[in-house]
Amino acid sequence: SAFVVGLTGGIGSGKTAVTNAFAKFGIDIIDADVIAREVVAPGSDGLAAIAAHFGSQVLHDDGTLNRQAMREHVFQHPDDKQWLNNLLHPMIREGMNDAVQRANSAYCILAIPLLVENQLQHMADRVVVVDCPESLQLSRAMARDGSDKTTIENIMASQASRQDRLAIADDVIDNSGTLEATTTQIKQLHLNYCRLSGVS
Ligand code: ATP
Repeated sequence: SAFVVGLTGGIGSGKTAVTNAFAKFGIDIIDADVIAREVVAPGSDGLAAIAAHFGSQVLHDDGTLNRQAMREHVFQHPDDKQWLNNLLHPMIREGMNDAVQRANSAYCILAIPLLVENQLQHMADRVVVVDCPESLQLSRAMARDGSDKTTIENIMASQASRQDRLAIADDVIDNSGTLEATTTQIKQLHLNYCRLSGVS
């Protein structure tokens, strides 16, 4: 199976911009957020278990998961948040493992926004952190989402700190400059990862 580069970064740090650049080199991108949605998709075991546990209060009329209702419910009920994580986290890990096994580029990128928070470093051979000052995370995320300052600050406060992320990084992409400056760093890392994977 492929050499796995775990990629993480806080809200608005530029993970999507960076993974798009790696994808242009033909590198397979495995996105934890996509897999997290798949495990609760219509017809999934995950959705069936949630429906059995919480009932229709967390479903839309058509039977799909009402994410907003689910988020609000677990925010009010920490025990249920634990139950939900215990259900979904193993499914998501398994989905990521399966996708890594199927990857067939020189190496693959495993993008996990909450890699540090959920201690998933062990899933990767190497960890790259997308980094910029918190003030830039804030302004870029606000501009992108049209959210107010407090909303983004609350999300940032709920995530790992910039220092915690940098502490586990093998490589750091400084995304505080132009996208062009970031692309220059990605080209260099791509060559390194090809070499480390044994495909050059
Ligand atoms: P989230 O975790 O919230 O999904 P993310 O880490 O994927 O965020 P992006 O969506 O890639 O972050 O970037 C946040 C915003 O900042 C986007 O609107 C993106 O276009 C912009 N952006 C990213 N990098 C740069 C850069 N180097 N210069 C200017 N704007 C940038």
